[in-house]
Amino acid sequence: MVHDLVCGMEIKDTSKAVSLIYEGKTYYFCTDLCKIQFEQNPEKYIKKNNENGNDHSHHKH
Ligand SMILES: [Zn+2]
Repeated sequence: MVHDLVCGMEIKDTSKAVSLIYEGKTYYFCTDLCKIQFEQNPEKYIKKNNENGNDHSHHKH
């Protein structure tokens, strides 16, 4: 199953979705708006997606 990392929406038809290749991986978005938001801060959305609520040990500032 593929999800739009920006808004969290499930992408049911990837052939109609907006796609973006970032660091060799393809990401799908429901609209260009979500894609643009992702492009502006891709790390934020990728990290948010990978950590799954386990983001307490990352703040070292
Ligand atoms: Zn979206």
